[in-house]
Amino acid sequence: MIEIQKIENCSLIAGPCSAESQAQVMDCARSLAAMGVKVFRAGVWKPRTRPGNFEGAGEPALEWLKAVKTETGMAVTTEAANARHVEAALKAGIDMLWIGARTTTSPFAVQEVADALRGTDIPVLVKNPINAELELWIGAFERLAGAGIKRMAAIHRGFSSYYERIYRYSPEWQIPIELRRRIPGLQVICDPSHMTGRSDLVPHLAQMALDMKADGLFIEVHPDPCHALSDQKQQLTPEQFGRMTGKLVFHREPEPADLKFMEPYRALLDDIDLQLIQDLADRFHITGSIGEYKNTHNLAILQPDRYKAISDILAEKGKELGLDGDFIRLLFETIHAESIRCQINKKNDK
Ligand code: PEP
Ligand code: MN
Repeated sequence: MIEIQKIENCSLIAGPCSAESQAQVMDCARSLAAMGVKVFRAGVWKPRTRPGNFEGAGEPALEWLKAVKTETGMAVTTEAANARHVEAALKAGIDMLWIGARTTTSPFAVQEVADALRGTDIPVLVKNPINAELELWIGAFERLAGAGIKRMAAIHRGFSSYYERIYRYSPEWQIPIELRRRIPGLQVICDPSHMTGRSDLVPHLAQMALDMKADGLFIEVHPDPCHALSDQKQQLTPEQFGRMTGKLVFHREPEPADLKFMEPYRALLDDIDLQLIQDLADRFHITGSIGEYKNTHNLAILQPDRYKAISDILAEKGKELGLDGDFIRLLFETIHAESIRCQINKKNDK
């Protein structure tokens, strides 16, 4: 079991993708501090997918972050991808580190960072790996915990896909949900900037993340996004950021009165869920009997015509009842796949 301690002040972390110059960093930091942001982000070393792009200002930029701390009182955070980054950041008094999405995919790199952090108690934010592989994400927390780091949180920044989508990186919300289940007490912060890749979509996704119980937001803000040296399209201006935060609804924890209101409805849901499980058990029992018949009568397990017909009927019926047709298809696909799996297993047992 990984021991997790909460990180303070991470409900809103903001700042430019990259620290580009002392003037750019200070300009951005002053605006954000005036809006009440407590933690300032800026990339000092930038992991670029392809070479030839701006790769960060490097160690000199740590001095600019130090100046932000001194002048605004905000805590500062930057990305560390190897032992050299960790040592330089610690020496400069950086308050919090984050591990980038590309680094989380590499157990060697994460182990190197973890080893360099041994003996410190700096908070570490771990971005999800760029591919949708939950075990790599969990593995990074395990490696850091193995090095004695306790204050850790996750950053959900979406997952890469070969196909064009509305978002730059697809959210795959079920992955952070499962992460929370696997590591109880872990705060999950959402990064709608990298997820959307588009500044106009950031506010919508930021609210969606809060509705999905994100513990905080990690947002790219640049004083002049059009001239940013990295991630131009997704950075908000400080004004846009202020407008967005003014509208965001940060949820509270349910109080006894809320729980009392929801209790009878939840009791009804529990009964329905139990009934669904019972119905599924009955359904699989029946498919078992049909499976036996198919086996003994030399019939294929998959009967595509029957599958298509029933899937169409259910999607139509679902729509009539006000349900989403695609959801019904997906649900039935899952149930049907399990029926097929059971029938195949039964056949192989013989
Ligand atoms: C960043 O936050 O600037 C960054 C490089 O993010 P990611 O690792 O999510 O691509
Ligand atoms: Mn970025």
